[in-house]
Amino acid sequence: MAQPGSDFPHTHLLSADQLQRNHLDCIFQRSDEYLEQLRLHGPDGFSRVLNGVVVVLAFIESSTRTRVSFEVAAKRLGAQTLNFQAGASSLSKGESLVDTMFTIESNHPDLIVVRHSAAGTPEFLAGRLQSGIINAGDGRRQHPTQGLLDAFALRNRIGSLQGVNICLIGDIYHSRVARSNFDILRTLGANVAACGPGTLMPDSLEALGVRVFHKLDEALEWADVANVLRIQRERMDVGLLPSLREFQRQFGISGRHMQQHPELLVMHPGPVNRGVELSAGVVEHKRSLVLEQVEAGVAIRMALLALISEARGLV
Ligand code: ASP
Repeated sequence: MAQPGSDFPHTHLLSADQLQRNHLDCIFQRSDEYLEQLRLHGPDGFSRVLNGVVVVLAFIESSTRTRVSFEVAAKRLGAQTLNFQAGASSLSKGESLVDTMFTIESNHPDLIVVRHSAAGTPEFLAGRLQSGIINAGDGRRQHPTQGLLDAFALRNRIGSLQGVNICLIGDIYHSRVARSNFDILRTLGANVAACGPGTLMPDSLEALGVRVFHKLDEALEWADVANVLRIQRERMDVGLLPSLREFQRQFGISGRHMQQHPELLVMHPGPVNRGVELSAGVVEHKRSLVLEQVEAGVAIRMALLALISEARGLV
């Protein structure tokens, strides 16, 4: 139940397109506070607003940074976390996802952060379970906290995103990050584009108002910001790319591009295939936001855990 007068009514976070402009402002405002706490204070500097809240981290598809980030975020706010390991669970004995989740829920957790390779899993669970569901990535569909942290990190570097040209580059077709970025960036008033090999670009992009580039040089001429996506080898059918080397030659960002475009900012959600999407020098470049994105991720996830807990009347 949302608190009266609250700007954040959501009791689940399933998809970036459920977030309107005032919801984004509310998330960013709270994230500002938490980012300051993360930067300036030691372990005692945090308000333990989630004391007593139990958060299950159900990463049924693998993850490093998102899982660590959610766990740190929950613990900084005083919540207790429980890691559910799919490989060590009854899922590996053939139990269905919904039965496993009903079992988890009978332990009465408050929030479940879920990642699954099947698109739509978070909605499916939210319709059947009592706990609050937070989508930490479902197949190719959505990764709303990544979209939020990308926008938050960029806004912290440059201010308003209104009218800023942001191009997502690389494997758009398999990328849940791209879908969440498009939703959030457009709500914030940015102009969005995509650039990549034809086989890795969905047909629907232009209909969604996303400008399409097939040549990297043209995209970088247009863009203020390049958000470069990982080649999703685990979701790739054979034959979509001639080779990684060919991809790197046509779409990889190197020091030469950084020199040619002296204002260009570069982002990447990680994990980076170094030398494929970004050359090593670009990852560490002063106009790369890669580590700022990771730091922003903890603050964003703290804010969401707190706002959803408030909306559910848990705290
Ligand atoms: N970490 C992001 C995700 O889980 C990006 C990636 O894996 O390429 O979607």
